[in-house]
Amino acid sequence: MTTGPETTMRTSPPTTGDLLERLRARRWRLTPQRRVVAEVLRGEHVHFTAEEVRRRAVAVMPEISQATVYNTLNDLVAMGELRVVSLERGPLRYDPNIEPHDHLRCVSCGRLVDVDVAGKDRLVLGEADRHGFAVLGVDLTFRGVCPACREPRRQAHRARRRGAPAADPGADRAVPGSPTPPA
Ligand SMILES: [Zn+2]
Ligand SMILES: [Zn+2]
Repeated sequence: MTTGPETTMRTSPPTTGDLLERLRARRWRLTPQRRVVAEVLRGEHVHFTAEEVRRRAVAVMPEISQATVYNTLNDLVAMGELRVVSLERGPLRYDPNIEPHDHLRCVSCGRLVDVDVAGKDRLVLGEADRHGFAVLGVDLTFRGVCPACREPRRQAHRARRRGAPAADPGADRAVPGSPTPPA
């Protein structure tokens, strides 16, 4: 029985087969460089930017070039082994979870987790709203504040670091010029 709000979410189950296993299964030529990139992108709820992938790859293989990392990302996207996630702001993220899923994004730190959205199959775009398009699907991103960012001390820390959040005019703000309270 459903007791929660109309739209509920749950965390996705573990993906069936991780990226590296899929690449081995399709016999893609796994050079050491490509394997490092694929290993960076293993796991669940992984949504790195290209620069994050490069940094993590360099940590493992200092000589790996940016071009190799970016070419590998592009190849994996073209092969359908990585999904590109475009958010309303910030760079593209690369997602090794190629099962259908949606996202929940922390508006404070940008953390992105995979979710299955209950009731998504009942979303309807009416004839008049289709503007002649053949509609293929819908991607949803829920916004929220993650547990780490909900913790008051960290929130205060973040607010001090970046100043008053411009995108959040309803939030409590210090009077301009008043001293920042100690943590
Ligand atoms: Zn957060
Ligand atoms: Zn995802």
